Amino acid sequence: MSHRQRALCILGATGSIGASTLDVAGRLGIPVHSVTAHSKVAELARCAVAARAQVAVIGDETRLPELRRLLEGSGIRAETGAAALCAAAAAAEVGAVVTAIVGAAGLPATIAAAKAGKRLCIANKEPLVMAGPLVMAAAKAAGGSVLPVDSEHSAIFQCLEGHRTSEVAEILLTSSGGPFRTVADLSVVTVEQALKHPTWSMGPKITIDSATLMNKSLELIEAQVLFGVGAEQVRIVVHPQSVVHSMVAYRDGSVMAQLGRPDMRTPIQYALTWPNHVAGPVEAPDFARLGGLTFEDPDRRRFPSINLAYHAARLGGLAPAVMNAANEVAVAAFLAGRARFIDIFSTVEKALGQLANTAEPSLEQIVAADCETRARYA
Ligand code: NAD
Ligand code: MG
Repeated sequence: MSHRQRALCILGATGSIGASTLDVAGRLGIPVHSVTAHSKVAELARCAVAARAQVAVIGDETRLPELRRLLEGSGIRAETGAAALCAAAAAAEVGAVVTAIVGAAGLPATIAAAKAGKRLCIANKEPLVMAGPLVMAAAKAAGGSVLPVDSEHSAIFQCLEGHRTSEVAEILLTSSGGPFRTVADLSVVTVEQALKHPTWSMGPKITIDSATLMNKSLELIEAQVLFGVGAEQVRIVVHPQSVVHSMVAYRDGSVMAQLGRPDMRTPIQYALTWPNHVAGPVEAPDFARLGGLTFEDPDRRRFPSINLAYHAARLGGLAPAVMNAANEVAVAAFLAGRARFIDIFSTVEKALGQLANTAEPSLEQIVAADCETRARYA
């Protein structure tokens, strides 16, 4: 089946990844079946009309009448609520689902898409961190495929293609280092400073995660889940230019890398067109103008998130879900001006310290741990 025959469901169509996905789909002539958003009803209606979608789902139920009004006469069905979100992801007309909701809120729809055997293009990493083994098992049982959209994981996926995971020595997960790579005192940084990412333009939550390097912590677990490797096989390397999106070192000392401009349309497009690399809007980097590519170890003292991630990855069970929930509430508190930047680290550390763990938790246990952690640390 070609990518033009796989109609899309875009979960979180009004966000940063959602907008890039709509752009890629428009250029490649991929039909969009459904689009969803949480509360930005006018934007949702606009993108539903522009993409000629058949269904638009607004998460916030109070906005349904407005959505209906905005879509009147368009022939686009307006829906709302959690069940409608899952139904959109699992609809028979849909071939591929792009998960671009932010945070744990995307978990039910991710599971629904996996169970329905869709091509699951995952940008929304938090559900994979929380319930990775369940998502992967559901996709496998239903005969679907899981394709990474996260740029690092798309890079690793490409560096692994045609190779055996058993021959991998190390996965080198690159990080820009964020805006505070060279800032000595993180206790005084402001929301405004933290929202200025040096190389990528993204939604607010992941931008803060990139500043704390918690994004790399989530990505370490995401890599474990997607590629079936141990945490000790993944090394985080700071690469401020964001050109090498990640690398895989093999046992014979040879290293494969994937390079590109910092533009999410590249990994989004590859998830949609895999195994084909088709022409798209992003050009290859101009190597004569790149200047240097540099690499360094992360500073684990200033960024405790790195050690916390390896700790959570080794603990397994509920630890990744608890780490994620504590991080989500701490980031929300920081963005709202109720907490300091460094409180994000201490909140995650405290939550992991008080963890009552369970091996191989069920979805219900994961959701309960997520809710309890939020209630305790909000
Ligand atoms: P964003 O904040 O720009 O957009 C989030 C989208 O999710 C919006 O459409 C919003 O309506 C929807 N949403 C928010 N809360 C919701 C809820 N409770 N229920 C239903 N929908 C809800 O975020 P983003 O930067 O596009 O990131 C989306 C996901 O992709 C995140 O998990 C992020 O980690 C991941 N990701 C983003 C980038 C990037 O470049 N932005 C790169 C890699 C991975
Ligand atoms: Mg990433």
